[in-house]
Amino acid sequence: MSNAHKATAPDPGDFLEVDGSLSAEERDIRDTVRDFATGELLPNVADWFDAGTIPDARALAKSFGDLGVFGMHLDGYGCAGASAVSYGLACRELEAVDSGLRSFVSVQGSLAMTAIHRFGSEEQKNTWLPKMAAGELIGCFGLTEPDSGSDPGSMRTRARRDGSDWVLDGTKMWITNGSIADVAVVWAATEDGIRGFVVPTNTPGFSANVVHRKLSLRASITSELVLDGVRLPESAVLPGSGGLGSPLSCLNEARYGIVWGATGAARACYQAALDYAATREQFGRAISGFQLTQRKLADMLVDVNQAGLTALQIGRLKDAGRCHHTHVSFGKLSCVAAAQRVAGEARSIHGANGITLEYPVLRHMLNLETVATYEGTAEIHALSLGQAVTGVSAFR
Ligand SMILES: Cc1cc2nc3c(=O)[nH]c(=O)nc-3n(C[C@H](O)[C@H](O)[C@H](O)COP(=O)(O)OP(=O)(O)OC[C@H]3O[C@@H](n4cnc5c(N)ncnc54)[C@H](O)[C@@H]3O)c2cc1C
Repeated sequence: MSNAHKATAPDPGDFLEVDGSLSAEERDIRDTVRDFATGELLPNVADWFDAGTIPDARALAKSFGDLGVFGMHLDGYGCAGASAVSYGLACRELEAVDSGLRSFVSVQGSLAMTAIHRFGSEEQKNTWLPKMAAGELIGCFGLTEPDSGSDPGSMRTRARRDGSDWVLDGTKMWITNGSIADVAVVWAATEDGIRGFVVPTNTPGFSANVVHRKLSLRASITSELVLDGVRLPESAVLPGSGGLGSPLSCLNEARYGIVWGATGAARACYQAALDYAATREQFGRAISGFQLTQRKLADMLVDVNQAGLTALQIGRLKDAGRCHHTHVSFGKLSCVAAAQRVAGEARSIHGANGITLEYPVLRHMLNLETVATYEGTAEIHALSLGQAVTGVSAFR
């Protein structure tokens, strides 16, 4: 008898057994984060999305700190030193609830903490990282500006020397957690190129304004940062930072989390559609029995599982030290696009119910508009892959 005859029917929730190859430690982390996400976050997220904010972001930060997900892929300074795959699984389980909640963790750990960990002085690391890992302090990462998004090299924020101090002037836009942050990692142009600065947000001249009326990532706080003659000591500059490559290397870490996160959003939408289709009856039968619905479910199944395999393979490459930034572009482009397709199909299967917050599908669909935009738009990652395979840059 062939092996095919002995095989049991695949699990609709993990069709290609992507999770089957996880180590015991990775499964532990997955389950711990999943339990927290479904127990503590899922019951609240629709209300937060509806309210357009996270009402008690400090308490949430503390919970994330206790869970150990802030900077969990970093070593030392109170961080867990977990594998890339473990970090990815945490992002997946958080984003299965909501992209905004995964963004909270990504910005704190992969952007603000990674910048300090990678480019900071020993003093900066000891001052900020342990409290950020514990969720006692919140960080943000200010790179984008009103007129400088995909092309951050065109930034207008300036840092000039004044005696032994630095003085920063400029505006940053679309900054996650900006108005609740204790510390902002701000990127500014200097005479010697782009440098990173660690800016305590109570420094005179620093202010932050919440961006209202968002239709996406509503369970997340997004802000404008205004730097008006912000005077900082020499010790505020990240000594290891130099050039645009510094912030881009942090973005690459956050994008890696997005690769996995998108698979969580996709899985949640697919699961919701599968459940809904099984119980919703029209024309005297469950809509899951119609061929057109099954086509949608089959396409979603393929997208969810292919995205899951992609994320796992990129994670394994990262843990083996062989992950190139174009691998991350591949994952960001393909997994987010897959999640967007799945969310759209899932929303259609839910009919009118699909446009409400009673079901997660439109919330995910709207969030994924941001996920496809930040940390490099789909077009920018396509250009990155185009350059990788042709050797020709088409960015400008
Ligand atoms: C909710 C939210 C949270 C965010 N959080 C942060 C944060 O914490 N920190 C931070 O620094 N930033 C953050 N961002 C900003 C985000 O990274 C930028 O929005 C993103 O880089 C795109 O920049 P942009 O919006 O200015 O679009 P633009 O760069 O103006 O792009 C507009 C369009 O033009 C296309 N385009 C641009 N250049 C090219 C080209 N060469 N070829 C073809 N097409 C091109 C783009 O793909 C896009 O479709 C956040 C954004 C959102 C929406």
